[in-house]
Amino acid sequence: MKPRGILLAGNWKMNHGPTAAQEFFRALPYSKKPGATMRIYPSFLSLSTALDSVNSAGKEIEIGAQNFHAEKSGAFTGEVSGPMLQEIGIHQVLLGHSERRQYFGETPAVILKKTVSALQQGFEVLLCIGETLAERNAGQTQAVLTHQLESTLADPICAAAFGTSLHLAYEPVWAIGTGMTATPAQAQETHASLRSLLTRTLGQTSADAVQILYGGSVTPSNFAELLACADIDGGLVGGASLKPESFGALWNLIPS
Ligand code: PEP
Repeated sequence: MKPRGILLAGNWKMNHGPTAAQEFFRALPYSKKPGATMRIYPSFLSLSTALDSVNSAGKEIEIGAQNFHAEKSGAFTGEVSGPMLQEIGIHQVLLGHSERRQYFGETPAVILKKTVSALQQGFEVLLCIGETLAERNAGQTQAVLTHQLESTLADPICAAAFGTSLHLAYEPVWAIGTGMTATPAQAQETHASLRSLLTRTLGQTSADAVQILYGGSVTPSNFAELLACADIDGGLVGGASLKPESFGALWNLIPS
């Protein structure tokens, strides 16, 4: 078993309304595994159905939101706040996904504001970071990841939360939804350097407690190899989280 435990998280993006969500959880093969956690991030509209489905089936699956607004209420048309999510029983939020950065203009400053607000409101945050293919080819992977993390590491609220309510997902942008997975060696090298960065800034104890998930075209055919790497603490999965068979197969690959 991994020292930090294993997290298998599914990001449904803009897929699965309430009916499909209910059907997914009905069909999902799930058995409890010590030291491992399963989590799904459905769309806002499917959150209540997802919670009801897992609770009524007695499946210990965590449900989180894919985004939220940093302010608690106000004139922000189309947005959803932390207190609204908590009212329905949501205490997990995914932040900084590359699609939020790319399509919705979320800068490191916006993501930092959301992260701090989420932590202050008692959420557990999974923060996504990752480089583009051009950045990797230019040898800038480390510089990009450091830039994406540095304001978070410098913030006292975030720094204190790393390893307890703040964890990371390393998602190379070129591997998301493309079928191009980082090799286990590439992923491990990046995860190890992220952990070194965390150790240098936060100290060994906090750095050792941070779960670093890998994301980017994870499937049942590559997950076991990725999971065998020392610094990979689980997966953040898009496409393969949409079908109960493939997500269940990923779960079954986690050693009991
Ligand atoms: C994601 O969206 O976070 C992701 C990793 O997607 P996929 O697994 O489809 O590459």
